[in-house]
Amino acid sequence: TPVILWLRRDLRLQDNPALNHAAETGRPVIPVYILDEAGEGRPRGAASLWWLDKSLRALAESFAERGASLILRRGDSEAVLRTLITQTGATAVFLNRLFEPEAWARDADIAHGLKAEGIEVKGYNGSLLTRPGSVLNGSGGPYKVFTPFHRFLLATAVQPAHTTGPRDLSGAPDVASETIDDWGLHPQHPDWSRRFDWTPGETGATAELGRFVTHGLANYGKGRDMPGVPATSRLSPYLHWGEISPWRAIAAARKTAADGKVPGAEADKFVAEIGWREFSAHLLHHFPTLPTHAFRPEFDAFPWRDDDVAFAAWTRGQTGYPVVDAGMRQLWATGWMHNRVRMIVASFLIKHLLIDWRRGEAWFWDTLVDADLASNVQNWQWVAGSGADASPYFRIFNPITQGEKFDADGTYVRKWVPELRKVPDRWLHAPWTAAPETLREAGVQLGTHYPHPIVDHTEARNRALEALKTVSGRR
Ligand code: FAD
Repeated sequence: TPVILWLRRDLRLQDNPALNHAAETGRPVIPVYILDEAGEGRPRGAASLWWLDKSLRALAESFAERGASLILRRGDSEAVLRTLITQTGATAVFLNRLFEPEAWARDADIAHGLKAEGIEVKGYNGSLLTRPGSVLNGSGGPYKVFTPFHRFLLATAVQPAHTTGPRDLSGAPDVASETIDDWGLHPQHPDWSRRFDWTPGETGATAELGRFVTHGLANYGKGRDMPGVPATSRLSPYLHWGEISPWRAIAAARKTAADGKVPGAEADKFVAEIGWREFSAHLLHHFPTLPTHAFRPEFDAFPWRDDDVAFAAWTRGQTGYPVVDAGMRQLWATGWMHNRVRMIVASFLIKHLLIDWRRGEAWFWDTLVDADLASNVQNWQWVAGSGADASPYFRIFNPITQGEKFDADGTYVRKWVPELRKVPDRWLHAPWTAAPETLREAGVQLGTHYPHPIVDHTEARNRALEALKTVSGRR
């Protein structure tokens, strides 16, 4: 009898524990992807669906090369699985677990129902270095601070051997599949594909990893803070969709260091960032209300402002602060934003505009190709100062000095805000401080070609500190 391989966010053949275990049974393996829009919790954003569309096409090709057909079905996951079981006579379902609370609970219900009917359900961890719930402090509770969490993780997580996956997956019974074109996941916007220069899927992930260890890793520690320098891995969407395992990314970085090609400290720094991904997943697992509620409850009473005009200016990259606008435009154009700039734009929304972090988080969720519930929520709460191991709530990023420090030569701002490209470096991050003739020579008239700042930095900072007293008073 065949077994079902239920793929979700493990869209790869290499290092895929559920696939390996399914193949080891020696029985025919039926790989299936179920489009169950609300089944995993919050419905997917548009950029994520763009990615999923391409990723499934790539995955179907990889399965075809090994003699198998990827079955696509749309609908309620449990109903689809039951139909497939009836159609194929399968007696087991293999899957890699999802750890977000809603998806976890849904999977547990499905497993319970299937097991009651004699169907075996086998779950594995294919997405994280350690299973959430297994990293606990001395008193058996979850870590709430990153450094001890990471130390424990490094000491205990065991790297599995690399596997390329079964070579021959032929022999599964023929079952009907829907077609990806019919799903219409790819947004219908005519400009969409032009803007998104990504290669979703396992091959794209391998290429990105190769590029990173050869060109980025040597300067990762410093370069990762400079948005104009391509020093980071850009693996986040691939990691989110499970097109590469975090272990493989870590192993490649460590090997590059062990071969003497980059200092060990650079690889360690990269491993620590993967550690933040783990930390986010563990926090969400232990504190399931994080997507909707501040980890520090006093922040839920914060006097947020409703300001649709300012919010729209922020989403469109029209705030008048060049580094903020560059980031928001990079996000819209590519589905990705550099981490340093994510922190700056998030801080600007929360502290300069006093707009609820949940609105910013929702915008990211819709527009990021790496939108990940745990990482997105954890990082937004980090910037807000309301999270577990968060930035101090009174820390307010200055978008001018952040730009001057991390994009000193203006490479990043000039790329994404081309109307300012002729403004000399000295005024690039605060063009309104330049003399009118300087701006004229650069071909910029503020208010016509590029907006005046929508808030004054000093006034906004004072207003934020005032508002934050409501929180600090209760701490
Ligand atoms: P690299 O520097 O190459 O890091 C390697 C990997 O480590 C990343 O791919 C990612 O998986 C992980 N990582 C790095 N930094 C973080 C971090 N701060 N938190 C969690 N994991 C991290 N990351 C997402 O994957 N999805 C999100 O939805 C997301 N939302 C964010 C929202 C805000 C407000 C902020 C400040 C950060 C957010 N991040 C998110 C984290 C981080 O910005 C991205 O993971 C990173 O920019 C991805 O680029 P990279 O792959 O080149 O990173």
